[in-house]
Amino acid sequence: MPDAHSKPREACGVFGIYAPGAPTASLTYLGLHALQHRGQESAGIAVSDGETVTVVKDLGLVTQVFDEQRLSPLQGHLGIGHVRYSTTGSNTWENSQPAYRTAGQCGFALAHNGNLTNTEELFAQTGTLFSAVPGSQAGTSDSDVIADLVAVENQGGEGEASRLEAAVCEVVPRLEGAFTLVLMDETCVVGVRDPFGFRPLCLGRLEHGWVLASETCALDIVGAHFVREVEPGEVIVLDADGIHSHHPFDRADPHLCVFEFVYFARPDSNLYGRSVHAARQRMGRLLARQVPVEADMVMPVPESGIPAAQGYAMESGIPYGDGLVKNRYVGRTFIAPTQELRDRSVRMKLNPLEDNISGKRLVVIDDSIVRGSTTRKIVALLREAGAEEVHCRISSPPYRWPCYFGMDTGRRSELLAANMSVGEIRDYVGADSLAYLGIENLLQAVGSEQGFCTACLTGDYPLSVAHPVAKDALELFAEGAAR
Ligand code: SF4
Repeated sequence: MPDAHSKPREACGVFGIYAPGAPTASLTYLGLHALQHRGQESAGIAVSDGETVTVVKDLGLVTQVFDEQRLSPLQGHLGIGHVRYSTTGSNTWENSQPAYRTAGQCGFALAHNGNLTNTEELFAQTGTLFSAVPGSQAGTSDSDVIADLVAVENQGGEGEASRLEAAVCEVVPRLEGAFTLVLMDETCVVGVRDPFGFRPLCLGRLEHGWVLASETCALDIVGAHFVREVEPGEVIVLDADGIHSHHPFDRADPHLCVFEFVYFARPDSNLYGRSVHAARQRMGRLLARQVPVEADMVMPVPESGIPAAQGYAMESGIPYGDGLVKNRYVGRTFIAPTQELRDRSVRMKLNPLEDNISGKRLVVIDDSIVRGSTTRKIVALLREAGAEEVHCRISSPPYRWPCYFGMDTGRRSELLAANMSVGEIRDYVGADSLAYLGIENLLQAVGSEQGFCTACLTGDYPLSVAHPVAKDALELFAEGAAR
């Protein structure tokens, strides 16, 4: 794939709602639509009317999976939803979520954002692969392991009411790694954030109900008021009595993924009470102070580089302008049979504005470089369009270490900055100069008094992960289970 992994890829977005009298399936659809940037491989919704849990899911974007015909039978007062990009397990229907399991007389559904780092140990605990409960349509992701473990704990007696809440509190302390979960059975919705809080989850209030969502932008679209972020290590339950919480984990220092601020989260979301858009502008301002350059125009790589480019222009006094137009209707690029067609795929997404570029010294702002192939093509496009100089400025530090907590960039050997100096990367992408935002400035831009994971930038992992072994073992395991 020409542009595969040109950007870090987020693992998933989750949504949950308990709202008697509200069109919960439609509101979940809207919430997932707002979270579409977090995963484009599959989408799914589960709802319950108090009697049964019904799940509809499929491969594709939210608008491809759901139409009126598929939404209208989904009736009930509670529901959960999920959009997926796979970091473990292949992109198959079975791995799409919500995952569904039966337990005793009850059924439950689960949606997961993140990556576990002790999946193999958990398999050993269950003694089975992806099928702890007979008849389950289990997939091959770490999310399925969690669902299996909860199903085992959730086995109620004949006619016994759901034990989902207790089962979740029993299982989640055994999980390691990144996991933001939303689960539901016939009577309640349960949200979980791992004790490090790698992935976000927020709570919103409707007039007659409650909402959980990966990002605040999903609250806005369903008309929910932001109440608070679900705390790292909190299990929160939404049911007929309102909301209540458990704290079944040992305490840990919060480590929200700093890349949520850099790239993953939508700019109109808030994290740690701060606007993501404003934080990205601050990154651009600090980048301008840290690595100034003489130029005629500051331009973003659209769209994720826009706020940082605005910040760089404001701080430097260099005029801001558009140099590339993005085709908004191109999703993932599947045309790749020849090198020539692969090269054209960047042009399918980004086309240069020659009149704005020709004869100018450009500062080109992007938020990250993972493998560099897209940056290299963009620099070449700008030069072809007549740019006199191309100076690349990146609003995050070099990405040198793999992520084991829900972001997919591949192995360390595949990361450009892990294998080249900044000067070598500059030569590889063909820029006149290249510079990255320093880690101190990044933390200043996002608010350094709060806890962040920066492992992919610093190698400082908050959890002990046997780096290559764990990653390779997980990949091999998922591949083996898929066969
Ligand atoms: S390693 Fe990087 S991408 Fe992964 S959670 Fe930490 S900061 Fe985020």
